[in-house]
Amino acid sequence: MTEQFEDLNLRPELAQAIATLGYTQPTPIQSGIIPLMLAGHDVTGQAQTGTGKTAAFALPILERIDPNQYLPQALIVAPTRELALQVTEMIQALGQFMDVRVLTVYGGTPYNQQLNQLRRGVQVVVGTPGRILDLIKRARLDLTEVRTVVLDEADEMLSMGFVEDVEAILAATPVERQTTLFSATLPSRIRELARRYLRDPKLVSVTPEQVTVSSTEQRVYYVNEFDKLAVLTRLFEMEEISSGLIFTRTRVRTGELVNELNLRGYPSEALSGDLSQEAREHTMARFRAGQVRVLVATDVAARGLDVEGISHVFNFDLPEEIETYIHRIGRTGRAGRAGVAISLARPSERRQIRQIEQFTRQAIVEGTVPTAEEIQAKRLDGLLDKIEMWLKRGRSKEERALVETLVASGADPIELAAAALKIARAEEKQRPIPEISPLPEKAVRPERRARSERTDRASSAEPRDRKPKAAASPAKPRASIRGKQSDEEGMIRLEMGLGKVDGLRPSDVVASIAGIAGIPGNALGRIYIQNHRTTVDVSEEFLEKVVSANGKFKVRGQSFTLTRG
Ligand code: AMP
Repeated sequence: MTEQFEDLNLRPELAQAIATLGYTQPTPIQSGIIPLMLAGHDVTGQAQTGTGKTAAFALPILERIDPNQYLPQALIVAPTRELALQVTEMIQALGQFMDVRVLTVYGGTPYNQQLNQLRRGVQVVVGTPGRILDLIKRARLDLTEVRTVVLDEADEMLSMGFVEDVEAILAATPVERQTTLFSATLPSRIRELARRYLRDPKLVSVTPEQVTVSSTEQRVYYVNEFDKLAVLTRLFEMEEISSGLIFTRTRVRTGELVNELNLRGYPSEALSGDLSQEAREHTMARFRAGQVRVLVATDVAARGLDVEGISHVFNFDLPEEIETYIHRIGRTGRAGRAGVAISLARPSERRQIRQIEQFTRQAIVEGTVPTAEEIQAKRLDGLLDKIEMWLKRGRSKEERALVETLVASGADPIELAAAALKIARAEEKQRPIPEISPLPEKAVRPERRARSERTDRASSAEPRDRKPKAAASPAKPRASIRGKQSDEEGMIRLEMGLGKVDGLRPSDVVASIAGIAGIPGNALGRIYIQNHRTTVDVSEEFLEKVVSANGKFKVRGQSFTLTRG
């Protein structure tokens, strides 16, 4: 098994793209598939979405592309338009430093653009079976140079009734082609398809980590990034947490969250990698003994934390990997007790949640954040329960004597009880119910309006926004007609309405813009990600190409446009 990308000896352009995308190690399916495909074998890959299967076949295809040949060299058949687009996005991201021509073809769209691109020459075609077959029949798609065919999500294609189309497509490709088939499941019909069309295929199978997440109640709350703490404290009010484990993305966030929770009246402790082994053991022991009810940790810090019967796992930040999610929530509901796993996700993370659902084949129910009224009612219920309990117990001898003395000296019993309740509720005041902002209206996504709405809340972070404006000096006459001048010669500064709160990273920005606009990654210069917007410097030479791709840009599931600020 290949443990490192370097061992695969990929072209430097691919190694650069892998690094830009932030992949550090091949996933198991990639370790298995890539060397086999590079060696020319036919392969059956049993893998679901989320395992890295797309890059597993995209990398060998890109590695073996002949840059001087402009007839399709690889054909990827996918059951749906959405998947076809995702595959294209991945190929473009991985091929961002290679100048590779990829065409996506699917039904329901006019032929013109697809035909034009075919005329100009393409190297990789990704599409749905119906439209591919259509183009073959119209003699518009020349498959004579195809060396690799990928059937992606073959089980889906079969269940959607595409088997005959797929067979007809395969018949139009050269017999000496390499054929690979990817499928989440391998029922007999898939095995039969593989037997008929693949030559001595090797099987690489990645089955999900065997864990029982079925006894865990999984919920997700979609929230603004800056509201996560507020939502967490609201949930603390409503949930019966006997022991809770909160996962954050970084060590710094762990510390911050613990401080904030304690300040707001929700005691918690950090399980940090910074602590000495002894201190960690001590914290874990106190957690096990129930002296600490809530622990906040990163995945790394929580390694080796073996505690039975955690009632709640909170994903304050979603993990990067699905396996990590499963590992985290596998800690709840042990010893026969049902646990609750709650994820706080940004609206832009819907896709990740869907992928986790597909992977685990379990539903993650979308919850509604408790309202202030619900919390008040719950607090009142709690108070009444306590009163009832003490009335039943009847062991308030000293207090009873005190009441008798006060009533004897003229106090009204009802007034007295009200005053006592007031005192009893004083600690609630330590936990004011925090405000929560509505989510931005995603469908319309009027970026500027959403941004100005958020500005009030995140005002402390906003002053940084002004910096690039100052850098783009209005004194330069070209700025007004050509867009903002970057600090760098020959670069133009463009702006987009997504930022840190949308989870943007520089690698996403490069992959998306370069991939979708079809420009080399090094045509992009400085990228400055602020909370709610991002500026990107683009080489003047490629400016038109980038601006004309507006309407197509997408990153982390969200569309964006690039404007000249
Ligand atoms: P897929 O299973 O192809 O849908 O990929 C799932 C996700 O994994 C995608 O968002 C990829 O960007 C990401 N991914 C693919 N390969 C790697 C890798 N080696 N390391 C980290 N993430 C990866």
